[in-house]
Amino acid sequence: MHLSDRVLGVKPSATLTINAKAQELRAQGRPVISLAVGEPDFPTPAHVIEAAKEALNQGFTRYTAVPGIPELRRAVAGYFQQFYGIEAEAEQVIVSNGGKQGLYNLFQALINPGDEVLVPAPYWVSYPAMVQLAGGVPVTVPTEPEREFLVTVEDLERKRTDRTRMLIVNTPSNPTGCHYSQERLEEIARWALDRGIFVVSDEIYDRLVYPPAQPASLSPLFPDHQEQIAVVNGLAKSFAMTGWRVGYVLAHPALVKAMTKIQGQSTSNICSIAQKSAVAALTGSWEFVELMKKSFVQRRDMALRTLRSWPGVVCPEPAGAFYLFPKVDAYFTGSITDSTGLCTEILDRGGVALVPGAAFGDDRCLRISYALDADTLADALDKIGSVLTSLR
Ligand code: PLP
Repeated sequence: MHLSDRVLGVKPSATLTINAKAQELRAQGRPVISLAVGEPDFPTPAHVIEAAKEALNQGFTRYTAVPGIPELRRAVAGYFQQFYGIEAEAEQVIVSNGGKQGLYNLFQALINPGDEVLVPAPYWVSYPAMVQLAGGVPVTVPTEPEREFLVTVEDLERKRTDRTRMLIVNTPSNPTGCHYSQERLEEIARWALDRGIFVVSDEIYDRLVYPPAQPASLSPLFPDHQEQIAVVNGLAKSFAMTGWRVGYVLAHPALVKAMTKIQGQSTSNICSIAQKSAVAALTGSWEFVELMKKSFVQRRDMALRTLRSWPGVVCPEPAGAFYLFPKVDAYFTGSITDSTGLCTEILDRGGVALVPGAAFGDDRCLRISYALDADTLADALDKIGSVLTSLR
């Protein structure tokens, strides 16, 4: 099979090994608890589902405009007005198949071969691969758990070259759950703006920020820096709508047009029915999100207490999303030399599936998702704890 250099250059996901192993164990009849999930364990709210039914009944089943129906683009603009107080226009919004396609379109529209993109690590798995697929060079910027895995302008400056074209920031973060305050986020953005570096701000978890922390966004800087900032968001996490595939990007109208061109030649509009539901979500009640948040906070606190009782584990308190990212290299002993080895051991002996930190650019850590019910979570943490204890 003759595959393109492009696809051969992309690393296979490090989660594949663990998933394959989990499936093998399940096939043998062994119970496996997965803490590897990247989606809320709540059903999509009823009013959002009703809007889909209504769209179907009304026959809203045809192609729509590529960047989204005007009603939805206006609703997205309204989101930025409601939560961040900025005046955005529908023409500054494109709706895509998840935040993921929004990011993909952005990279395709902005990156030229050889352009360097600063990617603070730990990073969401798809950033480096997507940058590479656009011909760019991902340059990772390592961070430390003792500093809540947050980058500083000094960290970024060390990795900047005259080929640096873009910076990706993600807050709260997948995989760490750590979160920049508005002040710190703006400090980083201003560093980039002053140097002509484009900033992509992935804010897909912005509604899942836990008090006393507050959501942070680069949208307040957007009106004055439209040519250098794009904000990515979507409904997957905030409305438990991962399967509906609704994401959006706030960007300069010329960039929205460029992304529309790419999307128009690849996937066209997102599902017409999902668009109607997205309007219902964005313009309706946000009570659901508040309830979901309360539940996540309780689970986070319980999981964090347990994790911190394991000797040698370092884990900052996440202020958002639904992940913990403990540093566990104190348990790399004998034949276990990295995060994949430790995850395999925990799966083999504890029956719990986790994602190795290597997948996110930090091989000292593991990612634990707490998007599942508290009892199962407690049971899984017990099992992980037993495996770790046996290793010391
Ligand atoms: N960005 C981050 C940090 C994510 O964790 C995810 C999903 O896991 C996405 C973007 C993409 O989300 P979606 O394409 O489901 O909207």
